[in-house]
Amino acid sequence: EGTIYQAFRNHAEQRPDKVLFDIPGGESITYGQTRQKVEAIAANLVSDGVSPGDRVAMQVEKSPEAIALYLATLQIGGIFLPLNTAYTGAEMDYFIDDAAPKVLVCDPSAAAEHAHRSGLVVETLGTQQDGTLLRETQPHTAVYEAQPEDPAAILYTSGTTGRSKGAVLTHYNLASNCQALLETWHYTAEDTLIHALPIFHIHGLFVAANMTLASGASMYWLAKFDAEAILDLLPSATVLMGVPTFYTRLLKNPRLNREICSGMRLFVSGSAPLLAVGHEAFEERTGHAILERYGMTETGMNTTNPYLSDADSGGGPRKPGTVGKPFPGVEVRVVSRQNGKEVEQGEVGIVEVRGPNVFSGYWNMPEKTAAEFREDGFFITGDLGRIDEDGYLCIVGRDKDLIISGGYNVYPKEIEEILDDHPAVQESAVVGVPHPDFGETVLAAVVLKEAADPDESLTEELEEHVSQQLARFKQPRAYRFIAALPRNVMGKVQKAQLRQQYAEVFA
Ligand code: ATP
Ligand code: MG
Repeated sequence: EGTIYQAFRNHAEQRPDKVLFDIPGGESITYGQTRQKVEAIAANLVSDGVSPGDRVAMQVEKSPEAIALYLATLQIGGIFLPLNTAYTGAEMDYFIDDAAPKVLVCDPSAAAEHAHRSGLVVETLGTQQDGTLLRETQPHTAVYEAQPEDPAAILYTSGTTGRSKGAVLTHYNLASNCQALLETWHYTAEDTLIHALPIFHIHGLFVAANMTLASGASMYWLAKFDAEAILDLLPSATVLMGVPTFYTRLLKNPRLNREICSGMRLFVSGSAPLLAVGHEAFEERTGHAILERYGMTETGMNTTNPYLSDADSGGGPRKPGTVGKPFPGVEVRVVSRQNGKEVEQGEVGIVEVRGPNVFSGYWNMPEKTAAEFREDGFFITGDLGRIDEDGYLCIVGRDKDLIISGGYNVYPKEIEEILDDHPAVQESAVVGVPHPDFGETVLAAVVLKEAADPDESLTEELEEHVSQQLARFKQPRAYRFIAALPRNVMGKVQKAQLRQQYAEVFA
């Protein structure tokens, strides 16, 4: 099977002229050229003193050279540590103190602000093939022979539910999950991916980029999501991987139609829930059913809707609102919040996973690591889910977002779906806020469609709408109309922020 680096290296040797990065309006960069960049960067990292096991941190804008830095780190046995470009000041202090990297590669404009850090070599890398990391050198050609259980990367979680944790992923975690993805989604060297995701997160790096590198495919390389650019590329691409907001934004563009998508093989969504209405609208417009999958930083990809529709070949429908079945080699179970025992089919509980994809632990957090694993090796994801009658997993929210009102469990997603059905509602987020009688009660933050008017009668209308479908204890006791839900770059709704903002409503 081998590592991601070895697979890339084989393609670079066997087909050096194959395009790896195709930059719209710019150049194309082949596997062979990428290998040269990788070996040059590897030489500079070695001269900076990077030894096997050392962390190499990166906080730079997306570029082909940033991927070369990732591969160079793997080549020399380092541990790659990409950081969200949005992190600043105190956040960066936390990550650097926590991970203690040997080298930090930052944007040329940020070099000065990191100069004070001691025991750390600061290199720079810009998006115009500039920066100290690209200085002339003799290529480093030796390849460190990494063991499958050696750490390949530390990836910090998105920080949606609390402080980001560093997930230590081994070469085997990355390679085995990549292999499962390639096989399940029939991804090959014939594919051309549209890559518009950030590369400091699992989706853009360990799903999209790793699959391309490991299979010898090509990718259109976009600095960020750009609906017009993606629509220009659709006719000559085969696969798009995106977060749900990619699809909602594409749907707003009148150019999206069947014809423009006719050469496409696969649209994938993940990182946050895709609304069933979005799934249905996309299929109606393009003829393509988006394939939704479920994963997390700590585990890579766990489940996927079927690639094939034919039940005889193990396929089935891509069901809106579900994340499908486990990838080969991955086990998924749903257990009771109360006693940790597996629940009956159809009941909601905590989702747990086990398999070669599951990480080795949180960096520097042995107690946290121990607390998140069961004795039999299952990892406690912190997500709530249920398995439907066809064996498909449905994620109903996060354990930390569960509202307990007057002793009753309230699942925000159930209420959000009903609110979203109302003709005036664009989208909604339901959170629990402190309440003197109930402990917690339900508050709905609602984004209205453009035409709708946020007046008192609308609140009454929404109250009427939910009261027909929900028990009293689940009905929101307050509504707040807002212009947009707070989201991070991965499209994740920041519920902690909403809870904080509305903490005093019933106080
Ligand atoms: P933190 O762990 O720091 O609070 P995070 O969980 O958002 O942040 P990630 O590892 O980036 O960090 O995200 C994984 C989470 O994203 C999953 O646990 C799940 O809640 C959510 N997720 C991913 N894919 C889907 C999906 N298809 N549907 C619903 N939720 C999803
Ligand atoms: Mg998480």
